[in-house]
Amino acid sequence: MDIKYLRVGQIGTNCYIVCDKAGGKCAVIDPGADAQRIIAAVEENGCVPQMILLTHGHYDHIGAVHELLAHFHCKLAVPKMELDFLNNPHRNLQSSVGGGNFEPFRPDILFEDGDTVEVAGLKFHVLHTPGHTPGSCCLLCEDVMFSGDTLFAGSAGRTDFPGGDPAAMRVSMKKLAALSGNFQVLPGHGGFSTLDEERANNPFLAGAADA
Ligand SMILES: [Zn+2]
Repeated sequence: MDIKYLRVGQIGTNCYIVCDKAGGKCAVIDPGADAQRIIAAVEENGCVPQMILLTHGHYDHIGAVHELLAHFHCKLAVPKMELDFLNNPHRNLQSSVGGGNFEPFRPDILFEDGDTVEVAGLKFHVLHTPGHTPGSCCLLCEDVMFSGDTLFAGSAGRTDFPGGDPAAMRVSMKKLAALSGNFQVLPGHGGFSTLDEERANNPFLAGAADA
């Protein structure tokens, strides 16, 4: 597995290109904006996108989806519990940033907690981690956790947007803290970390473990 990332859009969303080098295929996670930059990065990497995966439906994680689907003719996989949220421009905050006409999403795959989404040689295990949004998920692939806006290095996602739920976030943090083993943590914004580092030093995760 080879992972590239780009920081896209005005608030710096981490978009990940996860490539199965052996098969020459890749998944793109959270293409939030800057479609042409993402397309250039994918093509430079020499992998062919099979699927776009979303951790959640906020506007800053989905802004380049339609352009990438049109360019690569790949599939779109989203959390089932996030579909209504994703397709509501008021809840996903697109209307609040003046995003213009909203084009609905028609995913090929709806995944749920416990599912495994296979993309070429890669297996993404789904953990439903609501709190930031109702359907937010973390995606685990080998020893890497794509944590979306649920877990950040030293912090956690906001719960004060529409659909946010601080109590659900505490339960999700507990779920992440209880995972066995260590993971690289690649969040939706900001720097990278590891789950062990976050268990030790992130007040949201450390507090959750003893709650
Ligand atoms: Zn978000």
